[in-house]
Amino acid sequence: MKLVQEELRRYNRQMMVPEIGEKGQQKLKGAKVFVAGVGGLGSISSYYLAAAGIGHLTIVDKDNVEWSNLNRQIIHWTKDIGEEKTHSAMQKLQNLNPNCSIRAIQAEITEDNCRELIGDCSIIVDGLDNMKTRRILNAVSIKNKIPFIYGGVHQLDGLVSVFIPDKTPCLECVFPFDADESDPAPQGILGPVPGVIACIQSIETVKLILGFKALLTGRLLCFCAYDMSFREFKINKNPQCPACGNL
Ligand SMILES: [Zn+2]
Repeated sequence: MKLVQEELRRYNRQMMVPEIGEKGQQKLKGAKVFVAGVGGLGSISSYYLAAAGIGHLTIVDKDNVEWSNLNRQIIHWTKDIGEEKTHSAMQKLQNLNPNCSIRAIQAEITEDNCRELIGDCSIIVDGLDNMKTRRILNAVSIKNKIPFIYGGVHQLDGLVSVFIPDKTPCLECVFPFDADESDPAPQGILGPVPGVIACIQSIETVKLILGFKALLTGRLLCFCAYDMSFREFKINKNPQCPACGNL
């Protein structure tokens, strides 16, 4: 998709990266990405993806902005308390980059509406705070062969990986169903921790669109802020996985 004059200026520094260039920037403009949740993770990933020149973002969230969100969900401001998160996020994203088209849907992601919400987006970015909804997205990802960029955070820790249907393990291979996960209580979280994870998710999303081969696939990257370490675990496909095992 051809870039207009303003975009050539806006993305100048990004296009100077040899692996991106103007061709790569055009690819980003043609991309459509689904961001599930605009909380701690999604408020950062949607912001960077819009800034990086992704042509279209669909953002979905069911919640309104609360005081307790503001230590980390930095797309939402104090004046937005009580507002729908998708409305608050859409305003910031449009102001940041009017060339990025935003579809904002205030809704809970369910098995029934998930496919329709994703529409023709070709990548799912996980900005969720619960495994139940992640499993719904994972199932749709596998069924429709849409890559799923997983991210999760807890207190001082974060996890991130890229799941590509048919090629890599899926969410369910790595995190088998656990009965305790159904109704998670609010978790403690240091504000910048989801920022680290969401930035990695944004980078992997851009790389995936641009066709980079070395992605965070088959690996679970674990970030620990306490001792400032990144550790990596090899992850394998579970042949008996209830979500992807029959592929
Ligand atoms: Zn699986």
